Amino acid sequence: MFLELFGGVACLDFANTMDGRATAHPEELLHSYADLSAWSAYAGLIDAGTAARLAARGNEADLRDAVALREAIFEVFAAIGRKRAAPATALGVVQAHYAQAMTVAQLVPGDEYEWRFTGDDPGRASWPVAVSAVRLLAGGPLDRVKVCAAEAGCIGLFLDTSKNRSRRWCTMDGCGMDAKIQRQASRRQAARRT
Ligand SMILES: [Zn+2]
Repeated sequence: MFLELFGGVACLDFANTMDGRATAHPEELLHSYADLSAWSAYAGLIDAGTAARLAARGNEADLRDAVALREAIFEVFAAIGRKRAAPATALGVVQAHYAQAMTVAQLVPGDEYEWRFTGDDPGRASWPVAVSAVRLLAGGPLDRVKVCAAEAGCIGLFLDTSKNRSRRWCTMDGCGMDAKIQRQASRRQAARRT
């Protein structure tokens, strides 16, 4: 099944569907278009009925298209999380997906006005992600975008909404726990040496 949504915003959660990117065993969570539409429902971007209809229509090319968006989003926000400029090529890919989404989006009232998508175009599973990415890029808070600090190379992306901006790990019971165990082990080793 899918990971806990620790990104804090749809675009970063989507980037994290390639898990453990810099570890010895990166794990692809989207193997088919059906996986993509199921993830989109899991993330609350479409409802379950829409996910099922899209899964019946989406194909390998649609999956590749969404994965290209995901990889561009990862490149852009990993750079931002490391206080570097986002690569222009990746930004261009995000922009192109956003532009495509805007050709079919409807602006509708809610608590705030929002972009809504209807119909059964397979792009619908990932259009909200492109909207989320552009919203974060244009509206921030970019200084809260972080890369998981786990030494094993998780490099999961998340929005640090903690009050003092001190969050370092994707999840406290995942990478946060690993780091804690490592710290305790090295303290014990140090204690034995003295
Ligand atoms: Zn992590």
